Amino acid sequence: MKQNLLGLDAEGLARFFEAQGEKPFRARQVLRWIHQLGEADLAKMSDLSRALRDKLTMTSCVAAPQIVGDEAAADGTRKWLVKVDGANSVESVFIPETSRGTLCISSQAGCALECSFCSTGRQGFNRNLTTAEIIGQLWLANRALGRGVSEERPITNVVMMGMGEPLANFDNVVAALRLMLDDSAYGLSRRRVTVSTSGLVPAMDRLRDACPVALAVSLHAPNDALRDQLVPINRKYPIRELLAACIRYIEKAPRDFVTFEYVMLDGVNDTPAHARELASLVANVPCKLNLIPFNPFPASGYARSTPAAISRFRDVLMAAQIVTTVRKTRGDDIDAACGQLAGQVQDRTRRQERRLVRATLAGEPGSIAEPVR
Ligand code: SAH
Ligand code: SF4
Repeated sequence: MKQNLLGLDAEGLARFFEAQGEKPFRARQVLRWIHQLGEADLAKMSDLSRALRDKLTMTSCVAAPQIVGDEAAADGTRKWLVKVDGANSVESVFIPETSRGTLCISSQAGCALECSFCSTGRQGFNRNLTTAEIIGQLWLANRALGRGVSEERPITNVVMMGMGEPLANFDNVVAALRLMLDDSAYGLSRRRVTVSTSGLVPAMDRLRDACPVALAVSLHAPNDALRDQLVPINRKYPIRELLAACIRYIEKAPRDFVTFEYVMLDGVNDTPAHARELASLVANVPCKLNLIPFNPFPASGYARSTPAAISRFRDVLMAAQIVTTVRKTRGDDIDAACGQLAGQVQDRTRRQERRLVRATLAGEPGSIAEPVR
């Protein structure tokens, strides 16, 4: 099978060229062609000798996943459906703002972590994306937005906040992050690349050592009892361990704080008492808080907190000297807002079926008493 050069970072490409008996500096040239100029045709890489181009064409390729859907929201947000194989597609979202353009990309087809309020979590898990499929989303978005190299690149920031848990796909995500940061590829600063995690503590430490980009942590609850319900991975890595990992991370982080994400669920985690508990919980962690109004999806069973509840919550935190922002909901008319990304995922964990069995056994009204394969 041909080697897909799109998924190799500088080190991987240098190794590839060495193995072919070529000089490792070829890696830089090829990186620039692929990632800065958006070139997929090896034959067109004109600063490589004809003989090398011919050889490369035999042994390798530049293969991106395929865009199969492209929607624009009223506020300028774009959402692409990116097909990664016959059964799975993931979503990437571009969010233009006055002074920056943020691309939100996916790291897995589905997600195994089952956060109760997340549409991706509800649909089960199929597989990790490869490095080529992760960086391919940035590569495709740059091309779709009509720029190769340009003074004003439309994508100035990347957030790994799409489908999947990035730290559960560690090696492929880190290789993709290295490409984002590489001056011969996308040249983004570490401050402008954010990984969001639901709190895989050991992997947070590994990220700190391997590639410390900006970190966002999905906290969502001020105590373990509630977080166990909302973010089940909390049963394995409870809040105290999570916060300790955040403090360790900050030592090497590009910013001197972590961002805590907190989804605002009506009547679940949004009272002033929750806010006070949260304020004292994070009092010793250098952090900012980002409140995310819950974005609904069919049969979620949750509702978004009222604007009044959200501002009360924010006021309590601000009064405790915690910088708190409320995330603007973008692209919700095309289901592109946080937690609404579903793509199309073949659930290898067969979660839907397990749900059905549970519902059937429990005799829930309205459950379909279908035989389960
Ligand atoms: N798996 C990673 C990153 C992807 S989700 C993580 O969990 O951090 C990006 C953010 O959106 C997370 O904070 C996630 O908890 C939040 N989110 C998930 N579903 C949501 C929903 N329906 N409404 C609002 N935010 C949601
Ligand atoms: Fe996975 Fe993040 Fe969704 Fe939780 S919130 S199910 S970790 S994608």
